[in-house]
Amino acid sequence: MSKNIDVLIIGAGAAGLICAITAAKRGRKTLIIDHANKAGKKILMSGGGRCNFTNYFIEYERYLSLNKHFFKSALARYTQWDFIALVEKHGIPYHEKTLGQLFCNNKSKDILNMLLNECKSLGVEILLNTKVNKIRKNEIEKGFNTKTAIGDIKCQSLVIATGALSIPSMGATGFGYEVARQFNLKVTETKAGLVPFIMPKKWLHHFGDLAGTSVNSQVSCNKHQFKESILITHKGLSGPAILQASSYWSTGDYIEIDLLPEKNAENWLKQMKIDKGDTLLSNILSLVLTKKFASKIVSLWFHNKPMKQLSEEDIQYIAEKLKCWKVWPEKTEGYKTAEVTVGGVDTHAISSKTMEVKSVPGLFFIGEVLDVTGHLGGFNFQWAWASGFVCGEVA
Ligand SMILES: Cc1cc2nc3c(=O)[nH]c(=O)nc-3n(C[C@H](O)[C@H](O)[C@H](O)COP(=O)(O)OP(=O)(O)OC[C@H]3O[C@@H](n4cnc5c(N)ncnc54)[C@H](O)[C@@H]3O)c2cc1C
Repeated sequence: MSKNIDVLIIGAGAAGLICAITAAKRGRKTLIIDHANKAGKKILMSGGGRCNFTNYFIEYERYLSLNKHFFKSALARYTQWDFIALVEKHGIPYHEKTLGQLFCNNKSKDILNMLLNECKSLGVEILLNTKVNKIRKNEIEKGFNTKTAIGDIKCQSLVIATGALSIPSMGATGFGYEVARQFNLKVTETKAGLVPFIMPKKWLHHFGDLAGTSVNSQVSCNKHQFKESILITHKGLSGPAILQASSYWSTGDYIEIDLLPEKNAENWLKQMKIDKGDTLLSNILSLVLTKKFASKIVSLWFHNKPMKQLSEEDIQYIAEKLKCWKVWPEKTEGYKTAEVTVGGVDTHAISSKTMEVKSVPGLFFIGEVLDVTGHLGGFNFQWAWASGFVCGEVA
């Protein structure tokens, strides 16, 4: 079998689907191929099954890339409001969970079905279980020739939307990076992002029995701060604030945890000494931390005295420790559980307006395969929608 089409998109994920819809609306004959047995697997598993599809507050500071301005143009052209309008057009019920994060009321499937229905009504063909074996630029006719498991496909525009390395069991591959290298593009160093930490054995010996405990805190890593909860796990640390910090962490770095982010700890402890002098320190701390957590840190770090017996120096020491708990993760859980890959195809070689490779007309990279990574909270899908859309407008 051989096919001749306008736009061939490799990868039926978030970016590939929105790109296909946009290109097909322009009348382009569009085909998506994916090696997985299902389209949009990550959409289905996202947001704990409810897909955090965007965020009311899409701010540029929420994105990491070595090319600091690259993502701005696409995000400004296809905004959260554009995607929300699409969601509303399809009557999908949604809600804001926290911090502007928008989730489906029902299931992530609503978002995937919306995209697949749009594709269907616009005549986009989707071939699953299909591998691409070879890509070659067609110098004579322009465009590209690809050899796939179902035969040769010729296309004018070739869009690489194959995502990145996180969760290999969901179909993630380094295919996009291989294509980039084939066309002499650089790939920046990659690492797992939005991922839990594995803590050293000694740390787990002390804190492992607190697995399941969640505490509101502010986590800092390499000058980036996140005020959300942390979760102690059997392997180490997780929870939203930790996942956010992990994208900025490299091996050997420490992270700082402020266990009383809303308080001036020293003043508060002094006040407690006046108001509740006979109360034990552990009971005072359990007013703001869980009882188990408070008892644990008091037993490890302090003397459990009644508040009135604490000296000025004691209070200062306790306050400092609570505001600045330094921990040294051993490593992250890696791509196996990471929500995203930090790094990717170097965007200096890509047009920020169209996602086209500057040196290879007709070749595009969109979504997570690029060196653009969002914070937790719907920012990664918004990047997939925005980069897919601007590409679909020209591909
Ligand atoms: C558990 C989890 C939860 C998440 N939750 C959220 C969330 O709630 N909100 C948010 O904003 N982000 C979330 N993310 C991140 C988000 O899913 C990704 O940023 C987004 O899916 C990237 O879209 P993409 O289209 O670039 O890549 P993907 O969605 O990964 O799609 C890539 C597609 O390419 C296919 N493919 C790969 N290699 C090949 C190949 N060689 N040949 C053919 N096809 C190939 C894959 O099968 C896949 O279908 C989550 C991620 C994970 C892992």
